[in-house]
Amino acid sequence: MTHISETPQAPQASNEPLDLLIVGAGIAGVDMAHHVVNEFPGWSWTMIDSNDDIGGTWNTFTYPGIRSDSDMTSFALPYKPWPHKGTLGDGGHIKEYLRDAANEDGFLQRIQFSTWMKSMNFVTSGPAVDEHGPHWEVVTVKAWNHGPDDRPDATDDARVETTIRTRRLHLACGYYDHRDGFLPHYDGQEDFTGTLVHAQKWHPDEHGGDLEGKKVVIIGSGATAITVLPALAKAGVDTTMLQRTPSWVAAVPTVDTIKTIWGTLLPGDRNSKLTHKVSRANHILRDMVQWYTAKLTPPVFAGYVQGLQLFWLKPSQVRKDFTPPYKPWDQRVCKAPGGDIFSAIKNDGAKVVTGTIDRIVPEGIRLNDGQVLEADVIVSATGLQLQLFGGAEMAVDGTKVDPSKLVAYRGVLVSGMPNLSFTVGYLNQSWTTRADLTARYVARLWHHNINNGEQLAAPVNPGSDVTRKPLLEFEAGYIKRGEHITPRQGDRSPWIYRQDYLREWPELSRGAVTDEMTFGDDAVASAREAAEVAAADSADSADPAGSSVSAAM
Ligand SMILES: Cc1cc2nc3c(=O)[nH]c(=O)nc-3n(C[C@H](O)[C@H](O)[C@H](O)COP(=O)(O)OP(=O)(O)OC[C@H]3O[C@@H](n4cnc5c(N)ncnc54)[C@H](O)[C@@H]3O)c2cc1C
Repeated sequence: MTHISETPQAPQASNEPLDLLIVGAGIAGVDMAHHVVNEFPGWSWTMIDSNDDIGGTWNTFTYPGIRSDSDMTSFALPYKPWPHKGTLGDGGHIKEYLRDAANEDGFLQRIQFSTWMKSMNFVTSGPAVDEHGPHWEVVTVKAWNHGPDDRPDATDDARVETTIRTRRLHLACGYYDHRDGFLPHYDGQEDFTGTLVHAQKWHPDEHGGDLEGKKVVIIGSGATAITVLPALAKAGVDTTMLQRTPSWVAAVPTVDTIKTIWGTLLPGDRNSKLTHKVSRANHILRDMVQWYTAKLTPPVFAGYVQGLQLFWLKPSQVRKDFTPPYKPWDQRVCKAPGGDIFSAIKNDGAKVVTGTIDRIVPEGIRLNDGQVLEADVIVSATGLQLQLFGGAEMAVDGTKVDPSKLVAYRGVLVSGMPNLSFTVGYLNQSWTTRADLTARYVARLWHHNINNGEQLAAPVNPGSDVTRKPLLEFEAGYIKRGEHITPRQGDRSPWIYRQDYLREWPELSRGAVTDEMTFGDDAVASAREAAEVAAADSADSADPAGSSVSAAM
């Protein structure tokens, strides 16, 4: 296999590093770019994305009925009202909305699509550093199918590496692998005579064309499964959702009533910026109240959710198929606009079966109780594969750094890594609310550095007094599966990432940007130190005794 390297050939005209590279053109990247356009108008910057179009999640996923499971008023960008009426947003509409936002801010043409960030290396010495100071070198390759093109017959062109030098690097890569979802191997799946597809790989042209008279079984019980079921059932397809464990599913109004009320009370129309701002705040507060109610008084929340389900379902079905063994919000609560899944069960012949798969058989799925669910198409809605920092390798002066050995600072920066920031949103409410807090925090840090003549800023490498915990403390399967590849978080500020907008808002939008930070040459030293620790750790883990210790921790 030929490996061609054109390093260093940057897309910028000279070797001069960019002021900023944003990786990811989903909602977080678009929001970050909005702040850059407005607050740093003179900067040289660009954005890359491995997808072939804008939208992130809303470009990658195209399964039947694809929609948000947050209300669009709080999921939308804070500065751009959501123009549609529905409480939830259709995937295609969200993608177009993001394209409009990028167009309005004038950066759509700046985005380099089909470009995969393969690695990021912070360089602290060498001729380029002598000329321009320490910076990041990001190596990219042409992307195919949301990732690097690793087909054996890929052309040489697919392997050409391009290096982008940048002073600041912001990772808006989301939290999961856009290339592949989590697809368990089912015993007997090779014998299946129909089509087995993961929901993330569903393409309307390939899979949605001719479903008339076919039987579809969806495996799963999360937001995807409860979206696909009513969408297919409504289209007249014989559809069954097979779940091992039920989820909490809350019926929500089809039309955003909070926004409608504020649209009537406030001057301007329903889509004015003022109405958007006020209803967004209202939605965020409402979500926090619901979250606290669910956490503090689970039976009250559960009673409310299941009381609504009884409009459509018999109590026995609510007990059997919609009563999870865990408390509400231990995992994300799914939303059903107008109770569509319940209505599909009651009126459109949609079926829900709670059971465990024994094996796939040629004609469908056999369950442990012997029942066979016949299927022409099996949709595996079995979730995501966690991936932070776009799955790219991280290094300092070429020494590989394992992100799981680093500690996230306010869930925004990374210990020891200068001028590197990333976006993770909330798992218990709209992702965008935190994405925007992150963008504002990072912009404040950049302003602080510019005003103080600092080129570099990094969180210190925290000592052992900061207890290490998983960054994402949530019970969902994909989070647990990917814990070992994500940075840690600490047990005190500024090392905590709280799933709590009200507590984080003051810290991220107003709080100090200098706590336990290091600047200039000290930031460079902290990067070298992080790399030394990482190198020592990997030497330890090469020793079998060492690796068993780290695996047990
Ligand atoms: C089906 C589905 C529905 C969801 N619904 C909601 C919801 O209603 N509410 C909510 O709060 N959250 C929801 N989420 C979570 C959702 O992913 C986020 O809300 C949000 O869209 C994430 O935005 P983002 O820009 O941070 O990341 P993403 O949308 O994941 O975009 C990241 C972008 O980075 C690119 N990228 C990644 N790695 C690299 C790399 N190495 N090089 C170059 N580019 C790279 C990807 O191609 C992608 O375009 C949903 C998730 C899924 C899968």
